[in-house]
Amino acid sequence: MVDSTILFHNGSVFSTEGPPDCWILIKDGKVAARGNSAEQIKDLNLDNATKIDLQGKLLTPGIGDAHIHVGDVGWGREVLDLHRASVTEPKDSARSKDDFVNLTREYLASEKWLTINDTVNNFEALGWWDESDVPDLETLDSLVSDRPAIFHRRCLHVMALNSKAISALRLDSEEFVPPANIEIVRDENGKATGLLREGFNLVSEIRVESSTTLKRRIILGLETCVKAGLTQVHACEGKEPGLIEAWLELAKENKLKIRVFLSIFYDAFVDLKTRNILPKQGVTFGDRLTFDRVKLFADGALGANTAALSKHYKQAPHSGIALESIESMTFKLTEIMDQGYRAEIHVIGDRAVDNTLDGLFNSGYSIEQIRKFRHILNHSQIIRKDQHQRIIDLGCSCSIQPQFVTSDAPWVYESVPDELHDALYTWKTFLDLGIPVHGGSDSPVEEILPLEAIEAAIKRSDGNGGTFMPAECLTLREALSIFTHGVAQGVRLENKIGSLLPGQLADFNILNGSLDDTSVQNWKILESFVEGKLVFKA
Ligand SMILES: [Zn+2]
Repeated sequence: MVDSTILFHNGSVFSTEGPPDCWILIKDGKVAARGNSAEQIKDLNLDNATKIDLQGKLLTPGIGDAHIHVGDVGWGREVLDLHRASVTEPKDSARSKDDFVNLTREYLASEKWLTINDTVNNFEALGWWDESDVPDLETLDSLVSDRPAIFHRRCLHVMALNSKAISALRLDSEEFVPPANIEIVRDENGKATGLLREGFNLVSEIRVESSTTLKRRIILGLETCVKAGLTQVHACEGKEPGLIEAWLELAKENKLKIRVFLSIFYDAFVDLKTRNILPKQGVTFGDRLTFDRVKLFADGALGANTAALSKHYKQAPHSGIALESIESMTFKLTEIMDQGYRAEIHVIGDRAVDNTLDGLFNSGYSIEQIRKFRHILNHSQIIRKDQHQRIIDLGCSCSIQPQFVTSDAPWVYESVPDELHDALYTWKTFLDLGIPVHGGSDSPVEEILPLEAIEAAIKRSDGNGGTFMPAECLTLREALSIFTHGVAQGVRLENKIGSLLPGQLADFNILNGSLDDTSVQNWKILESFVEGKLVFKA
């Protein structure tokens, strides 16, 4: 029998508390021991073990992503991505109407999409940022006239539709009853202009994809995660009908290389519940896929002026869109907890946070009971000081995406009212208050580049050579922790994974970095291991 004992030595083994160790022993997929002196190794009796000399390299607990849309990442790799297609430098995007039109024309001419989108009747693209860069309806129709076309803003909270999509959704029909909280932009004659805010549930009615397509996209998205060096992802899925079933099939076929914790969209949760096929919270399929939580949306996005604020936007005569009232939030949170599930609530504006906390307080569950669920406030971009204690009392945590700061800093002060500026992206404050913080990318909104995300948490670059609120910068140790230990905390598994303590599962990465560095800019993820098995090598 092959001895599955592996010793990694002569390196730097990261510890969330205290100085690093220099060796770690892995046995049968678990951490058997670790230590800080080479002398200790002699006593371990490792004659038959594999010994790997790290040559000074860094070994960290498995790096993860606490908020990512894996299916959408795969989808974004297949359809036209205006952002990626036009990247000439990081963060560049379709920056003009001409860009938008030319990139789409080029893509359509290649006919690539017809071969890829085997079962899809629609034309879909994503990646635009500014509404001023979206061509008018007539131009969109000249681009795609034979089928519905949906062009998603990069945040996926706003869409531009062509006339075929408008009529497929019957937006201009007399019987059309506009769903609550969706903003259909209309011209002076009341006709839909094609712009739709927070309309993804509505649009999903005309997005019908086969199980083969969905599975292919998941695999494509997950491969992207593996290649980025991730060992676990908290996948926010279920916007398309059939997506959760596609995940389940892949898990049972053992096609998932890294750990996946599902955060299921509320509608998918209700659908599974109604059909009596909702797995118990925490159940794992095929060793890798765990049903963890249910995703709710309390508001929209900042760039779209749909995040729900307590004050009016500077550029708009309103305070955003609360997608749930306190009553509906209370109902849904109660329903989720009744099923033994936890919730992950998309909250960008501070009013969305208020509604969510009120919803939890009103749920009928006691504070002690609510704390055990450890609900997650996702994004947590604007949290006022007076909200901290309520968050702590209810045992909630914050899932954050550090790359957002670099993307948003150039415009966010012009959008968010002055009174809320000191509430923006206050991650250091969360950590100092003992609020758990989980790091992620929200990909495809940001690229899956965990080291770029860690760097963004350390540097908080404002994209203009400055630092966005320097007091909120994290140290390298803190930034690394929120993407390892912090991600494990996000699924309440910090005792099993995330810090490589003896007895924990051996999920880890090997990198060419040093903990004495002040930046991870030149670091590289060289290898990833899940349960002691190599799953990626650069
Ligand atoms: Zn997201």
